[in-house]
Amino acid sequence: MSTMSSTLSDKLDRIFRLQDLDIMLTEAQDPERKREEEEMGFRMGTIEKLTAARSRLLSQIDPRDLRLYERIAKRHKHAIVPVEDRTCLGCYMALPTSAVSLRTEPEQLLTCENCGRILYWLE
Ligand SMILES: [Zn+2]
Repeated sequence: MSTMSSTLSDKLDRIFRLQDLDIMLTEAQDPERKREEEEMGFRMGTIEKLTAARSRLLSQIDPRDLRLYERIAKRHKHAIVPVEDRTCLGCYMALPTSAVSLRTEPEQLLTCENCGRILYWLE
């Protein structure tokens, strides 16, 4: 299986899973939360497991998509956001018609021109 032949939905799916892992990792590393979980005895190598899952996932992601994601994730908790009614739900800017028609372009991740987040369509 080559990442180069991934469909757009495969790409989006992997970016989603990466985002989930990153959010979980951030939460797991939060000192407040860490202490709570330690007290409840839930913390058994959580960070190690998340990190291992993350590196397995990275091997399936197109390097270009990964660089794009990482650039956005530095600035935003959610690097990938839904579009509804032609509006980016990351920044609430209406997308230009050109971006909406680009949607038909095959196998490319689309980003919001205003906030730069990766877009996906809900419907
Ligand atoms: Zn936006």
